[in-house]
Amino acid sequence: MGVPIYDVTMDETVDWITRWIAHRGPAQIVTVNPEFLMRARHDLGFLTALRQAHLCIPDGIGVVWAARRRGFRLRERVAGSDLVPRLAQEAAVRGWRVFLLGAAPGVAEKAAAVLVEQHPDLQIAGCYAGSPAVEEETAIAKRISQSQSDLLFVAYGAPKQDLWLDRNLHRTGAAVGIGVGGSFDFIAGISRRAPRWVQRIGLEWLYRLMQEPKRWRRQLALPHFALLVLLGLDRPQGQPTETH
Ligand code: UDP
Repeated sequence: MGVPIYDVTMDETVDWITRWIAHRGPAQIVTVNPEFLMRARHDLGFLTALRQAHLCIPDGIGVVWAARRRGFRLRERVAGSDLVPRLAQEAAVRGWRVFLLGAAPGVAEKAAAVLVEQHPDLQIAGCYAGSPAVEEETAIAKRISQSQSDLLFVAYGAPKQDLWLDRNLHRTGAAVGIGVGGSFDFIAGISRRAPRWVQRIGLEWLYRLMQEPKRWRRQLALPHFALLVLLGLDRPQGQPTETH
């Protein structure tokens, strides 16, 4: 569908991020699931942002499934919601400064407090709900730049968070930026992630739908995506198929 998904494991993703932070980036990471791909089919700006990102990780089980149907075996599903706590642990050990941008007011602070409780050495450079509105982004980028952060998590949901990073990461001074969706809500205990066994059998999306039934309209993208893959209609028009 024109988006290069990398066959990386969680450990390899952390290695790449470690290297980018050492070299000061800036590098943007995108956690791709079928909703992203379906959105990108009719949103050229989003497609471009995904194609320009330094690393697209296979966040959704649907992506792993679709790749397998095309003969590419992705070794792992690397969920953004697992990556955030893992990077917090790594940040505490390596001394990276972390900035949490987005989610409802107070949630980033709460998530940061939970992470610091788990990793007392973790350095939080800042927390700010802000808004993804274009009028605010210069002030927000300045705030992040002044915080001297290495790693920036942005929780505005897709596509806003990824477009925000595409436009602004370079002026925040952060070496690595990642759109993390509902991760702060999970860490802060505002929403609950599916139990591990539900994740293992590939039904986290269904659990999330049951927890937040208002997502049904968005999640219609999933059966639509599955149908396109099954019918072989998922190939990008006029673009070469890429493998990485
Ligand atoms: N969010 C926000 N501002 C917005 C839209 C969303 O701060 O304008 C936050 C929302 O509070 C939540 C996060 O973005 O914490 C992720 O939202 P969503 O569940 O839609 O994202 P997903 O996990 O599906 O990518």
